[in-house]
Amino acid sequence: MLPQIYYQRPTTARNALKFLAAPGAQACAGGTDLLGCLREEILPGGTLVSLSRLKELQEISELPEGGLRIGALTTLAEIASHAGIRQRYAALSQGAASAASPQLRNQGTLGGNLCQRPRCWYFRGGFHCLRKGGNQCYAVAGENEYHAIWGGAGCYIVHPSDTASPLIALKARMQIVGAKTERTIDLDSFFVGPATDLTRENVLKPGEIMAAILIPPSPKGLRSTYRKVQCRGAWDFALAGAAVALQLTEGKVSQARIVLSGVAPVPWRAAEAEKALIGKAIDAATTREAALAAIKNAEPLEKNAYKVELVRGILEETILGLG
Ligand SMILES: Cc1cc2nc3c(=O)[nH]c(=O)nc-3n(C[C@H](O)[C@H](O)[C@H](O)COP(=O)(O)OP(=O)(O)OC[C@H]3O[C@@H](n4cnc5c(N)ncnc54)[C@H](O)[C@@H]3O)c2cc1C
Repeated sequence: MLPQIYYQRPTTARNALKFLAAPGAQACAGGTDLLGCLREEILPGGTLVSLSRLKELQEISELPEGGLRIGALTTLAEIASHAGIRQRYAALSQGAASAASPQLRNQGTLGGNLCQRPRCWYFRGGFHCLRKGGNQCYAVAGENEYHAIWGGAGCYIVHPSDTASPLIALKARMQIVGAKTERTIDLDSFFVGPATDLTRENVLKPGEIMAAILIPPSPKGLRSTYRKVQCRGAWDFALAGAAVALQLTEGKVSQARIVLSGVAPVPWRAAEAEKALIGKAIDAATTREAALAAIKNAEPLEKNAYKVELVRGILEETILGLG
């Protein structure tokens, strides 16, 4: 059952931030995750501040230096079908298109997708786990086939977003605004793992919202892709996924960013795999070496060792495909 909520629907960012400054107030964009969290008693009731009428959060626009600004309220469907994103930032377009179902992509926004809560069935179920202030992670000795193989640090959730990894691979930044603050940070430093703080998944402070994502211009020779493996053909979260962005100069990799999804509490940089590719032409041997470097330090739980091989396979397929 939904707890008691009070609903505000301001038309200006200034008013929205004023409402959000009240203790416990929460931003609501498409509501596809938030309402589930309220029903599942992960979040308490209180004031929901709808962002849906804030025009400044809605647009996709060109940046003066050549990149793109994507407002936080842009829906996943809009991102997936945007011709410029598809052409210049393929990984993002593919990530947005792979998320959830058509209905959810029409309603769910980029801001909500990046800020959604984890899907661990113990966290979402009636278990008083570590993340909810309890004293244990039930996944450690429980049903852990969908959990983390890196970065667990006591809590083994996986980060659920299919747009986060592509955006980090594309070096995106995030604009954050609060009633009295405004800052722009690398998306890479937005997400918070359990080793830093068990109770939250990102660095937003109470009262702050994400206003937009800024993606730098796509350099010459940049190719990117997102590959996701899921149990069902649609409407499912990633068992594992990889966003790969490679810049090729004269047939060799001059820049590589590889970010994994579905395998760690935060989008997971495969730094060793990136290193293994730099300065090399992409062929089967280099690709294999990079994929093996990526999985070297994986620490699977009892039931999710299959993810290690899955990541290796996904990386071989995507890197070779881009080459
Ligand atoms: C059945 C199902 C399957 C799904 N499958 C996938 C999948 O395969 N891949 C995937 O990536 N996602 C998946 N999702 C998640 C879905 O994509 C998200 O629910 C959606 O993107 C959230 O967007 P929203 O606008 O509805 O967010 P809301 O539900 O409105 O908000 C979600 C959270 O983000 C916060 N928030 C929203 N906007 C902002 C903002 N601008 N600034 C600060 N905080 C904000 C809210 O306070 C809330 O905590 C699935 C969801 C469901 C229900």
